[in-house]
Amino acid sequence: MIDLRSDTVTKPTAAMRAAMTAAEVGDDVFGEDPTVRRLEERVAEHLGTEAALFVPSGTMANQIAVRLHCRPGDELICEETSHVVLWEGGGPAALSGVTCRPIRGTSGLFTALDLPAPRPTDIHAPQTRLVWLENTHNRGGGRVHPLADVCEIAATARGYGLALHLDGARLWNAVVAAGVPAAEWCRHFDTVSVCFSKGLGAPVGSAIAGPQTLITLARRYRKLFGGAMRQAGVLAAACLHALDHHLSGLTGDHVNARLIAAAVADTPGLRLVPETVETNLIWFEADAALGSAQAVADRLRTRGVLVAPLGEQTLRACTHLDVTRADCEQAADVIRRHAGG
Ligand SMILES: *Cc1c(COP(=O)(O)O)cnc(C)c1O
Repeated sequence: MIDLRSDTVTKPTAAMRAAMTAAEVGDDVFGEDPTVRRLEERVAEHLGTEAALFVPSGTMANQIAVRLHCRPGDELICEETSHVVLWEGGGPAALSGVTCRPIRGTSGLFTALDLPAPRPTDIHAPQTRLVWLENTHNRGGGRVHPLADVCEIAATARGYGLALHLDGARLWNAVVAAGVPAAEWCRHFDTVSVCFSKGLGAPVGSAIAGPQTLITLARRYRKLFGGAMRQAGVLAAACLHALDHHLSGLTGDHVNARLIAAAVADTPGLRLVPETVETNLIWFEADAALGSAQAVADRLRTRGVLVAPLGEQTLRACTHLDVTRADCEQAADVIRRHAGG
């Protein structure tokens, strides 16, 4: 099977498993796991922040960020198809008493002009605290926020006295696609979350990064949310290995994604939405004449290609470390010949 459902399906390589086996560990709740500490320092240095905290998932990193910046009754502003709105189980409301104020973007992206002013400081109004950006944008088709737009959004938000969080689960894909270093993106935000379990191919792990004062508080919320781990160095070793060895592979993922995208674009009844494939995600729509998204996915599966049906007529394919260029050429061929029925 050529599994294009997600970049989370990758399995640790032999070299990564060796790094995990060799990891020096300790009880990280006591602050005694040297490998976790090394990862946190490495991430902070890489992202250009004072500190970073290792957490089990991107969802937890994001939910800790919501808690850091907001109090119950506050609101955050985000694009309406953001991961934090669609796919985190209502976390802001459930865990922090925070409402999301969704704004309409284009392929997940918005500009400073789309940013609403904060609510009045009136006893009736929720208090606006935080602006939320996702880069690359998952539901938006893996699009990259242009750096100039990010700068303007940040300046506008700061002018309003709002904090900024970057959901950078796929920040490294943006780094590679735009040729803009991670720290260049991160300096516009108070906090940033990154995932090692997406394109970088680690089995588990994310981080939240920012100023020391916020990360010290984040450590408290990680414990509160049940995410403090013990000998987590075995996991951190996989993430360090991923940072050392898997960043450059993202370029190939993006090239491979364009092979798949070209096949989708060539297939009558399939349509890329958005048309531009900038990174490793390919979102597309199937005409009703081809059957449901599930029916299209089922046809591809019988030919050895897995894609994810994520709506009535909506599908997503995704390239990653565990699919080669030859796999993607074959998947493209299968799509051309069999997706239509
Ligand atoms: C995957 C993802 C996350 C976090 O997901 P986890 O599965 O909880 O690690 C957060 N934001 C975006 C944009 C994602 O794609």
